[in-house]
Amino acid sequence: MIRNPFHFEAQFRPGVTGPEDGPGYWYMFAGRRLLVRDQGSNRVALPRRRIPRLTATGTQAHFLGELAGQPCFAIDTQAQAQLPDGIVGLDLRELYGRLDGDLFLLGGRAYQILQWDRTHRFCGACGAPTRRDAVQRARICIDCGMAQYPRLTPAMMALVVRERRILLARSPRFPDGMYSALAGFVEPGETLEACVHREVREEVGLEVGNLRYFASQSWPFPHSLMVAYVADHAAGEIRVDGEEVVDAGWFSPEDLPAIPGRLSIAGHLIRTVAARLQDGETW
Ligand SMILES: [Zn+2]
Repeated sequence: MIRNPFHFEAQFRPGVTGPEDGPGYWYMFAGRRLLVRDQGSNRVALPRRRIPRLTATGTQAHFLGELAGQPCFAIDTQAQAQLPDGIVGLDLRELYGRLDGDLFLLGGRAYQILQWDRTHRFCGACGAPTRRDAVQRARICIDCGMAQYPRLTPAMMALVVRERRILLARSPRFPDGMYSALAGFVEPGETLEACVHREVREEVGLEVGNLRYFASQSWPFPHSLMVAYVADHAAGEIRVDGEEVVDAGWFSPEDLPAIPGRLSIAGHLIRTVAARLQDGETW
């Protein structure tokens, strides 16, 4: 079993009910921007005393849980809020890799909960307003009672291995020269395994077998859960679909193209498998 590097390092105890206010980690977002102190320090949380004057949307804070015994909160302010001196707003993506791992994970959790909360204020069934449930992370319709939960979108990633080589592919959205593992969203009614088979077949025309779970990563842009597998080539030759994938090839571990960074599960997956193959180990 591979150690998953995308877990909290300190103890994080998630929670829904807890203190509504007080000292701790405060994640305040103005739209997509996380507000941080501009002191060259890598602490994300604003001090509690800076929060009230920025809170203009009238929303209550969400209690997220406790990180190493400290309560953690998420709260919204107006997307166009004028920021006081010493506070800057940065898109969470810009903070990726620039924040301590745990503080980034917590920021991703805060962002997803706020984003869900602000986009589910009305019932999708009857159109009436919804209210926050006191016990579980849900918004309940005040009229028909339908519950809406935070949305997660599972996406599969597959690294296909053929003898000592791995299949890497280019999406037209990638930076020039970059290649990665195959990936795609799970469809309704589909299992994770069926999704891997379908994605590989659709994107590069191959059949695969012997799927092995690798690891998963929360990817809060905006609400994905990436689940990575390693699979063996079973049949067929590469035939790219020309849309999701514009080029693909078999690469030996000694001769990899540009690949994603270590902080994404794609980068971790490719490097881990390539290193094993280079050491003569199999998958
Ligand atoms: Zn309703």
